[in-house]
Amino acid sequence: MEIKTDFLIIGSGIAGLSYALKVSESGSVAIITKKKDTESNTNYAQGGIAAVLSPTDSFDLHIQDTLKVGAGLSNPEVVKKVVEAGPGEIQELIKIGVNFTKKEIGFDLGREGGHSRNRVIHAADLTGKEIESALIKAVKNKKNITIYEDHIAVDLITQHHLKEYQRKPGEKIKCWGAYVLDIKKNKVNKFLARITLLATGGAGRVYLHTTNPDIATGDGVAMAYQAGARVANLEFFQFHPTSLYHPKGNSFLISEAVRGEGGKLRLKSGKTFMESYHPSKELAPRDVVARAIDSELKKGGDPCVYLDITHLDEAFVQNRFPNIYSRCLSLGIDITRDWIPVVPAAHYMCGGVIIDLEGKTDIDNLYACGEVTMTGMHGANRLASNSLLEAVAFANFAVESSKRKFKHEKSFEFPQIPEWSTKGVFDQKEWVIISHARQEIESFMWNLVGIVRSNSRLQMAKDRIDILLKEINQFYHRNPVTYEVVELRSISIVAELIIRSALLRKESRGLHYNQDYPDKDDQNWKKDTILSEVGSIGKVGLN
Ligand SMILES: Cc1cc2nc3c(=O)[nH]c(=O)nc-3n(C[C@H](O)[C@H](O)[C@H](O)COP(=O)(O)OP(=O)(O)OC[C@H]3O[C@@H](n4cnc5c(N)ncnc54)[C@H](O)[C@@H]3O)c2cc1C
Repeated sequence: MEIKTDFLIIGSGIAGLSYALKVSESGSVAIITKKKDTESNTNYAQGGIAAVLSPTDSFDLHIQDTLKVGAGLSNPEVVKKVVEAGPGEIQELIKIGVNFTKKEIGFDLGREGGHSRNRVIHAADLTGKEIESALIKAVKNKKNITIYEDHIAVDLITQHHLKEYQRKPGEKIKCWGAYVLDIKKNKVNKFLARITLLATGGAGRVYLHTTNPDIATGDGVAMAYQAGARVANLEFFQFHPTSLYHPKGNSFLISEAVRGEGGKLRLKSGKTFMESYHPSKELAPRDVVARAIDSELKKGGDPCVYLDITHLDEAFVQNRFPNIYSRCLSLGIDITRDWIPVVPAAHYMCGGVIIDLEGKTDIDNLYACGEVTMTGMHGANRLASNSLLEAVAFANFAVESSKRKFKHEKSFEFPQIPEWSTKGVFDQKEWVIISHARQEIESFMWNLVGIVRSNSRLQMAKDRIDILLKEINQFYHRNPVTYEVVELRSISIVAELIIRSALLRKESRGLHYNQDYPDKDDQNWKKDTILSEVGSIGKVGLN
């Protein structure tokens, strides 16, 4: 089956939906999403969105905070553009119906690690859910947007899918849409589009412990890289310091806002420890807090540390953190009386597909925004609550550029694009290979490529992933495409990219800590780690 549309959007989180809403003024839109329409990292965001909304705050302060946490790798031009777009983006979200928590006068602005002012606007501790449902509702009111749930993009359609096509020297790679698996019908269809937007989110599922939901398998990075786009800074994976440690609470995040309200980190003995690691104690940047917990766990051999907010008023806690309160209570932890057991977990992918200030990737007709991208905003570390802001701001930058492109192109013709090839494919009935390989990757990524790294552990991971990549590739080409195979392939490609990037960077900076090079080396390494088919290092230029 062939579906033709003006705009194809892969992913239905804040990035994809924000883009869809506005670009639908210019043409027909198809959104494909691999599970239910609301299932995304966006839906689980708790803390909120950082934006300059208070008279005691300023763009300059937000910019300085972002650059400081970014450890020398954020692009000041990008940071300025995004920060300045912040208040307008919040107004637009309010306009489409997002209900942010108010105080008697104005909005309640929370404080998170690395911010010098209270600037995190939120909807209690369910900000992402509130945004996601308002966006979905608005999108469903648009007649020319169609959402395809349970559809997973398998591959971007570019010249390399065309029969007997020879790309001329210097000719750019072009994208004409994607091959998409209809999961329920078990069939790969062609979705052809004049403009394709990658909004596939992050890749926390590459790691054994993560705050990310199942969808976060890095499909967009894997597809774009395979199609020939450059990716960058994938060694900078943010580990959230505090995810719930409970056999039934896997992936559940205890928001940084809990520390923002005065939560203390304690060892089993009750001793606090953050004062030995950073002057800002519990509100130090996330990488510092995550490494401090990791170090305490290694020293003491305990499986978790504890977050204590029992000093706060009970009613305040229930009101400020209704989601965390009720989830913990369902597991027998009353956070108004008990300390919360927590461990660090993979949380946010700072690197990704390189885009310019208009959201364009290296590939013609292919845009990207949201967590799948590397824009230059976060640099070597993300300031808390800057990611929803970046996603929504870049969705709008990409809309402006897409509309211009669309308007100026008088005619557009698709080449003859073949059906998805199933030549030589048969069910080998060896599906155990898939689950086994996935468990193995998650486990060695956690143990060898986690919060604290070393050359020998990274090399061990590289040797293993190289073997697995070959095996997975063979499996992919010989067996029918399934949801599980697509995800495993993405996870293996992204894992290899993370490991390769981490091996290339011979220093410690931001989220990347290698004990063999414990110091920051501005003279040699104040640059992005850019991977194309040939690994290289350099500063990303903006078009
Ligand atoms: C628990 C948690 C709490 C967070 N809290 C905050 C916070 O308070 N503030 C903040 O700024 N950030 C926060 N973040 C980060 C933030 O939520 C994400 O960075 C942001 O939501 C990403 O939005 P996105 O649209 O890029 O991707 P997502 O919201 O993850 O959406 C990706 C979409 O792509 C779809 N998809 C993926 N692959 C495919 C494929 N192959 N085919 C079809 N569809 C596909 C998915 O199904 C999904 O619909 C949090 C993240 C988590 C996990």
